[in-house]
Amino acid sequence: MHFHHRHPASEAQVTSSTEDNGGQGPDYTTSMRTDRCGDLRSDDVGRQVTLCGWVARRREHGEHLAFVDLRDRSGIIQVVVDGAADLRSEYVLQVTGQVRERPADTANDALSTGAIEVDASEVTILSASEPPPFPLDERTDVDEVLRLRHRYVDLRRPRLQKNLEVRATVNSAVRTAMEEQGFIEVETPMLVASTPEGARDFVVPSRKEPGSFYALPQSPQIFKQLCMIGGVDRYYQIARCLRDEDLRADRQFEFMQLDAEASFVSQDDVLTFITHTVASAAEAVTGERPADFPRMSWHEARERYGSDKPDIRFGMELVELTPVFADTDFRAFQAPCVKGIRVPGGADLSRNRLDDLTETCKGWGAKGLVWMKVEADGLNSPVAKFLTGDEQAALRTTLEAEEGDLLLLVADEHHTTCRILGLLRLELGRPPVTEGGLHFLWVVDFPLFEGLDEAGNPMPAHHPFTMPHEDDLETLEAGDLLSVRSQAYDLVLNGWELGSGSVRIHRREIQQKIFSILGIGADEAQERFGFLLDAFRYGAPPHAGFAFGMDRLIAILAGEENIREVIAYPKTQSGADPLTSAPTPIDDRHLEELGLRVLPRSE
Ligand code: ASP
Repeated sequence: MHFHHRHPASEAQVTSSTEDNGGQGPDYTTSMRTDRCGDLRSDDVGRQVTLCGWVARRREHGEHLAFVDLRDRSGIIQVVVDGAADLRSEYVLQVTGQVRERPADTANDALSTGAIEVDASEVTILSASEPPPFPLDERTDVDEVLRLRHRYVDLRRPRLQKNLEVRATVNSAVRTAMEEQGFIEVETPMLVASTPEGARDFVVPSRKEPGSFYALPQSPQIFKQLCMIGGVDRYYQIARCLRDEDLRADRQFEFMQLDAEASFVSQDDVLTFITHTVASAAEAVTGERPADFPRMSWHEARERYGSDKPDIRFGMELVELTPVFADTDFRAFQAPCVKGIRVPGGADLSRNRLDDLTETCKGWGAKGLVWMKVEADGLNSPVAKFLTGDEQAALRTTLEAEEGDLLLLVADEHHTTCRILGLLRLELGRPPVTEGGLHFLWVVDFPLFEGLDEAGNPMPAHHPFTMPHEDDLETLEAGDLLSVRSQAYDLVLNGWELGSGSVRIHRREIQQKIFSILGIGADEAQERFGFLLDAFRYGAPPHAGFAFGMDRLIAILAGEENIREVIAYPKTQSGADPLTSAPTPIDDRHLEELGLRVLPRSE
């Protein structure tokens, strides 16, 4: 047994294993190793191999023998080391030895290399390591900030290695699928003027023009439209987008989108392109191509699921009950809209849990929540006594209630009733990310506007470049704005909004009309989007596009609830980067150069 320090075996000692990989996949042999740890199998028994990797675990066996789990990107293999070397966690080793069968009773089915081990004849310490800042096994729950501060150690964990591979697979499948359909990748700038995606911009001060700022792109929206005017015809980009919004499990300040735009196309064409691409990405990861994605109108999604991004992995749909209580004496149900959901088997929910749910609904803006347990001798509910026998019977039939079910009802304005029950449905029924398979859904016919802003102007539901629905142009003329549908569509996966797109306005006069409806006056429109309006003068083709969040798609395909797990260097929930300490103050000289002065923080 030989131990070395920092002098890896020379090229001559390392024999190639290319003949063993049967031409399948890349050859990982280098001048320092013959194989990767996790690639070895029983077929390799008898071979002399040289491996490189990190010490994942070390167990003593008797006085002189140690079992070392050696880890690299491909996985882990057990190495038997004879001799009392100082091999600690996360040391980087080069090991030469013979592959042999493990004694049958020590085989480890949980490892792909679990039937074999390497009997080391030579071990070289390529690099020592201080004790790692946290244990790298998957069982220990490690503080997120600590993980991110030492992300380079965190990344060694098999889960994150796998997630990065899923990510690379999706990126590559998306590129291939877009190119198969004739899209070409065009890069757009990072230092831009503000783009109207409805979030706050990140800004970058200009040194050449103190007092002026670039915005970082919230999306390449305007540039891709300009590409269409520029004759690019089919554009795509895996684009970094930046939005200064509060972070959540499915949101980071910066994220990647598959951004696409095509000319001389309709909504159907775009849906076909994107379906092909997303299905190809899913297939590349899971090995199974998802069936064609169903479509649902925004209106139906709201009525049935109380959401514009319905999670259709499970039922518990919203049921219309307004007619059941049309003549009710019960005041709480004398509302514009009464709907309910049936929670199968939910009658055993405790009173405390029901009280909590009621409070949660109030927190969401509901006046209250009515619960009813379906029991053998009737409805058990604090409000049962206010309902007539006919109402109770009609309620049970409409909700198809069975003994043991829990019925939850909300009575309010239509949109509030739908929204609250939609949230409640998710709260009670949503399966974990790894369950229920992949359920894609196109939600189409979004409204053009959603509500009014503080100044009383309608707000665009998508963005101001979205074309109204052809059938609703008269409604738009008539000024019935909130009932105008648009040619905008979203792609939803398991209740996550993957992305959105629309057919664009390509005529200057319609664009100007929409700006004026939105309360963007001619001067402001010229100032903010003059370059786009100008471009429309020079022959804009009809065009449409889409963008979907790569991080969200990858997270779901990797079985992760939080997109941070599929991003190599994410930010924390508060937007900080514990690894580089960003954001950091800059020195006075630099501020001066930029013409900036920082105000004291107000408490
Ligand atoms: N730019 C839009 C977004 O980022 C997508 C699109 O309309 O193509 O959501």
